[in-house]
Amino acid sequence: MREILAGIDIGGTSIKLAFFSEEGDIVTKWEIPTNKADGGKGIFEDVKKAVSEKLEKLQIPYEALKAAGVGAPGPVDTEKGILDGAVNIGWKDNFPLRDLMQSALEVPVVIENDANAAALGEMWKGAGAGAKDLICVTLGTGVGGGVIVKGDIIHGANGAAGEIGHITSVPRDGYMCNCGKEGCLETVASATGIVRSAKDKLAIYEGDSILKKQLQENGDISAKDIFDAAKAGDVLANETVALLADHLGLALANIGSVFNPERIVIGGGVSKAGDFLINEIKQAFNRYAFKPVMESTEFVLAQLGNDAGIVGAGWLAANKI
Ligand SMILES: [Zn+2]
Repeated sequence: MREILAGIDIGGTSIKLAFFSEEGDIVTKWEIPTNKADGGKGIFEDVKKAVSEKLEKLQIPYEALKAAGVGAPGPVDTEKGILDGAVNIGWKDNFPLRDLMQSALEVPVVIENDANAAALGEMWKGAGAGAKDLICVTLGTGVGGGVIVKGDIIHGANGAAGEIGHITSVPRDGYMCNCGKEGCLETVASATGIVRSAKDKLAIYEGDSILKKQLQENGDISAKDIFDAAKAGDVLANETVALLADHLGLALANIGSVFNPERIVIGGGVSKAGDFLINEIKQAFNRYAFKPVMESTEFVLAQLGNDAGIVGAGWLAANKI
C-alpha cells in the first residue's frame, strides 16, 4: 500500500489541502471554505470530512494516510502544538491546534506558523530548492517571513523568529502597525504600505503623475498600479518603489549579516511586480550589505504562489513526524 501525507493550510477564508506521495509529489490539491461559526469549532470535522471523502474518491484506504502537517495564521509553539490565537478564524489564545487536529484525523500531526510553512515549501519544491540557508519574505497585505538555517526553520525562544515584517524600519514618527508597535517594516514595505506612501507623496506632489490621474478617476490606487506606473517611467511611482526597496534592502542586509543566506526568496502578491522589484531590492541590499554577504546572496522570486503553505505543510508531515 502506498503511503499518503496531508498538507493543510488554514487561512481566514479558505482551507487549502493537498495529498503528497512520500517523495513529495502532489497527488491532488483542493480547498474548502473556513467555517468560522461558533469560534471555528467546526473546522476539524470539516477537514476530516474533506480528507476522508477525497481519499475515498481516489480509492485510497484511509489507513494509507500516515501524517499531516498544518500551517495556521498566528504564533505557533510547534513543540507543545499550541497556536497562540488566530483572531481571523476565531480561535482563542493557547489553542491546542495539534491535539484537536490529531484527534480529528487520527494520524500524527505537526503544526507550524503559515509564513514559516510557506518558507519550508519554497525550500522543498520552489525557489529555494537545493539551498539550506534561506530567508523568505512574503510581501502581501503585511510582510511575512521565514528564516531557514541548515534546512530547518528557526523558531526562537517563543516562536517569534523570522517575523521580518515587525523589524523596526522607521525608528521615529512611523506609522502604527497592527502589532501595536510603531514604524514596523510592514507599514512601509507591504502592499498597504506602498499605497499609503504613494498617496502621501501625491498629496503634496506638484508634478504630473499617472498615479495622480488614476487616483482622481478611480478614487483609489493599488500596489499593482504603482509598479505598473514605475515600469512606465513615472517619477513619483519610481520614488515610491525606491522607498519600499530601500527599507526592505536595509532590513535584509542586516538580516543577511546574521544568517549569511544563500538565497533570499521574495514572494506574496507584491512580488508579481517580478524582476523589476527584485532588481530594486537587490540594488538597495547591495548598498547596505556587508561585502561577503552581498556577494553570496542570490535574490529570487518565489515559485509556488498560494501553494507554498500546503507544500511546506507536506514537508512537515514528511520530515517532522
Ligand atoms: Zn509590527
